[in-house]
Amino acid sequence: MSTTQEPSFRDSVELMYSRAVKLMDLSPGLEEKIRVCNATYTVRFGVRLRGDLHTFTGYRAVHSEHMEPVKGGIRFAMAVHQDEVEALAALMTFKCALVETPFGGSKGGLRIDPNEWEEHELEQITRRFAYELAKRDLIHPSQNVPAPDMGTGEREMAWMADQYARMNTTDINARACVTGKPINAGGIQGRTEATGRGVEYALQEFFRYPEDMEKAGLSGTLAGKRVVVQGLGNVGFHAAKFLSEEDGSLITAVIERDGAIINDEGLDVEALSAHIRANGGVKGFAGGTYTEDGSAVLEKECDILIPAALEGVIHMGNAKNIKAPLIIEAANGPVTAGADEILRKKGCVIIPDLYANAGGVTVSYFEWVKNLSHIRFGRMEKRQEEAQHRLLIEELERLSSDKGLGWELSPDFKAKFMKGAGELELVRSGLDDTMRTAYQAMRKVWHERDEVEDLRMAAYLVSIERIASSYRAKGL
Ligand code: NAD
Repeated sequence: MSTTQEPSFRDSVELMYSRAVKLMDLSPGLEEKIRVCNATYTVRFGVRLRGDLHTFTGYRAVHSEHMEPVKGGIRFAMAVHQDEVEALAALMTFKCALVETPFGGSKGGLRIDPNEWEEHELEQITRRFAYELAKRDLIHPSQNVPAPDMGTGEREMAWMADQYARMNTTDINARACVTGKPINAGGIQGRTEATGRGVEYALQEFFRYPEDMEKAGLSGTLAGKRVVVQGLGNVGFHAAKFLSEEDGSLITAVIERDGAIINDEGLDVEALSAHIRANGGVKGFAGGTYTEDGSAVLEKECDILIPAALEGVIHMGNAKNIKAPLIIEAANGPVTAGADEILRKKGCVIIPDLYANAGGVTVSYFEWVKNLSHIRFGRMEKRQEEAQHRLLIEELERLSSDKGLGWELSPDFKAKFMKGAGELELVRSGLDDTMRTAYQAMRKVWHERDEVEDLRMAAYLVSIERIASSYRAKGL
């Protein structure tokens, strides 16, 4: 592929798909079936606010229904448009297949600046949007299950779920119509942190393979690695927090809407996040040096670059200046197809979005299963597990004392060993396993097939093959 003009986000996704299918043996019909977006619903609805009638435009795209329900976030942003929603829905199809969540791909968006509206106004708007979607089964526990994305979170998901429940008063599975809800409204522990946590697990897995690190010219562990993060929202904040607090990485710069903050000794992520919440931006943060030109900081020397804001930020204009040897796409589509080619030629390793940010949909899957099973994970097993572990400890202590061996188990070990797994531990374990397994499937293709140059191609190949098998099984 040779790109001379910057492709749009949607074209980028299609180009990446085309590059992958060239390496596959798909019939042209099936290739086309998997490529196209099945349907996109556009709705324009009015809400009376501040004495006037305001019209809002929203979308819900369903890319592939080879498995149902279809799944994908709803974003609230002024830049939302049909092409973007369709590109994001396609990514959801590939992502769900890659991490083996039993869903097709979908995505939604509402063209709105959430900061312009009071909370009670946003609730009215969100409920009305949810009503329009639910009326057409575009929110439905077995048909289409939205989740949070840019500009939306637990609060919006709770409003949507409640709206669905009001419209379907006898549906015992109503709560499974949306994921990413607050715990008290049917959510699951660990969902808010899930996408950022998944980014951390993805990097941990990458750093388990010296030959993979070598491709990026890296070695050692995550400890001390210099990390630049763009977008300290839900995904960027959690990824940065866990990498700095648990893996010893240094967050040397954070880029936000109003500029960037740099500190080569490592930024205090919690403090910076609190500063952004209080002041609306990074400017004025005392723990680092401010610069207004945020996009220039993407080109800063570092070991790992984490774009976690929006699509298209690494493009043909700046790709050649990017110095990071490893990019992990926490956002969807941050690297355009043109930039991808430039970076590949430079030897930069990119951990692709459809894998890197799949932690969100993975834990959404757990939440959906929890809602359908009507029981919290770990509720039946936790105390039983603790009783078993206590038995073992008591037996070891008895043996030690009977035989005069003088063994002493430290209180800290005993406390940790005896603690049964609750919901959060189980969710993290399931997420870690998912991220490891999916990475292993990708790297196998990356290393075993000479024509597969990069992890993105490997990810697409694994995923498209699974979707194709699903369609074939349906007789298509
Ligand atoms: P968010 O709204 O919580 O955070 C986005 C952050 O990016 C905000 O802090 C915002 O100020 C910042 N930002 C926006 N425009 C910017 C710009 N031009 N330059 C620098 N910073 C900018 O959104 P999020 O949920 O964290 O999503 C971020 C990305 O991750 C999106 O691409 C989204 O599709 C993807 N994603 C999110 C989830 C999830 O679970 N939330 C799951 C998978 C993928």
